Amino acid sequence: MKKIEVSNIFTDDLPGDAEQRNFVRQVYEACYSEVHPKATSQPAWVHFNSSLAEELNLSEVDRRQLLPLLSGNADFEGAKPYAMCYGGHQFGNWAGQLGDGRAINVAEIKGKSGTQTLQLKGSGMTPYSRHADGLAVLRSSIREYLCSEAMFYLGVPTTRALSLVLTGDSVERDILYNGNPQFEKGAIVCRVSPSFLRFGNFQIFSSRGELNVLKTLTDFTIKHYFPHLGPPNKDVYLQFFREVVNGTLDLMLEWERVGFVHGVMNTDNMSILSLTIDYGPYGWLEDYDPTWTPNTTDSQHRRYRFGNQAQIGLWNLLQLGNALFPLIEDVSALEEILRDYQTDYPQKHLKMVWAKLGFSNESEPNQEMVAELQKLMYQGEIDMTIFFRNLNKFQADAPMDFWEVVKESSYSQTFEQFRPNWENWLNSYAEAVLNDKLDSASRTASINKINPKYVLRNYMAQLAIDEADKENYDLVDELYHLLQNPYDEQPNMEKWFAKRPDWAKHKVGCSMLSCSS
Ligand code: AMP
Ligand code: MG
Repeated sequence: MKKIEVSNIFTDDLPGDAEQRNFVRQVYEACYSEVHPKATSQPAWVHFNSSLAEELNLSEVDRRQLLPLLSGNADFEGAKPYAMCYGGHQFGNWAGQLGDGRAINVAEIKGKSGTQTLQLKGSGMTPYSRHADGLAVLRSSIREYLCSEAMFYLGVPTTRALSLVLTGDSVERDILYNGNPQFEKGAIVCRVSPSFLRFGNFQIFSSRGELNVLKTLTDFTIKHYFPHLGPPNKDVYLQFFREVVNGTLDLMLEWERVGFVHGVMNTDNMSILSLTIDYGPYGWLEDYDPTWTPNTTDSQHRRYRFGNQAQIGLWNLLQLGNALFPLIEDVSALEEILRDYQTDYPQKHLKMVWAKLGFSNESEPNQEMVAELQKLMYQGEIDMTIFFRNLNKFQADAPMDFWEVVKESSYSQTFEQFRPNWENWLNSYAEAVLNDKLDSASRTASINKINPKYVLRNYMAQLAIDEADKENYDLVDELYHLLQNPYDEQPNMEKWFAKRPDWAKHKVGCSMLSCSS
């Protein structure tokens, strides 16, 4: 047995819950409760992420030694497993204590790029499970496993996933919350992140007036994750807030760049490290529609729709600012930072789309051209990923040659009607390309670097799930490999560079997802 070195920074440095028994309750004045994963009856591998294992210096550990550790049947030697206490605003309303209801942090280990926390999602009840069972099903675990890795390779900040196992136990779920519960296969994903701290971890202490714990937690966060800010004082807290604001804004722009819709941007799902966290009813934009959300639980108000994510990011940051206020006590300084977000966002957004269009960094973005494009893409139901990637075929000396390419990326039955508008747009785009200083080869290279060829379309994940339900994990493996090189041409994988098939348009799991997982 190879010894795995672990640390317990979180539990050593932060106040914990004195109660050792595991039952659902309110936990006060504590950042965590010690809790052990529930034993599973027949753990079995679905997939193992050997690239990440390498990063974590785990490749030499026997897989037979890892299986019990990653399925809840054994503790890492020397580690103190725990569930975090946090609160959150859910869909705009303060929900009080939430916490790790089905996630248990099982070990901190030293990876090649620093200490990482390993967390089992779906490994049983904790004091924070409220009315639920602490478990996760195979379908949502495959979605999290594949998507978090896909995001990583796209260059989008994210938590990662080391393994996916079946527990051998079944879990009851009512997928659409319509009174049709069914038994599904239980599964556990081992998530990996330097830290799983969320905005809600700070909010809970502030909301309860537990200001000592708030300060201890904030000092801890700065010391370990923002060490360049130096020893904490009011000014440093403000700087810390500024960094979270900037990081969150950058993350929102990254989601916009690749067409990702998180689906549940509650403040308990916002990482303090500005990582994409908690993959639930997320989705990928196919036909370009800023009002789209995959989350049926949010279908009425569409609070978390694609085009609203940056606004919600700001709203969430305001809640974080409120939580940190007792440490800073300077309203106008906090407001100024939030105002900067508001002024930076439209400019950064414009620059980001401009870069997707293949223009050099120095060129001045043309706002009207971008706005017109977005309108045309929306009206013409243009597939976002295919359109931007295909710009590598655009010839500025023959702009209308591109019309057929655009047409092929549309889902609309009546797309021909938009031809005159597109002709105008393509002509002005051609003119701008000719005026840009990038030569055609560099332009193509930068288009290919910023516009992925392969993303985890909603139906792709669903196909992998359908196969996995029949105990065939080949497609999970195929997508895992495909999405490790999302910007590369992969000639034998062209089938995944295609529009969503018709059958997937309204299918549960493809365009309709709920929080049930
Ligand atoms: P989410 O919307 O998935 O981020 O979850 C919101 C809160 O509900 C978090 O505190 C989760 O830990 C908790 N939660 C979600 N699903 C379960 C479950 N099956 N069992 C226990 N807690 C859960
Ligand atoms: Mg969550």
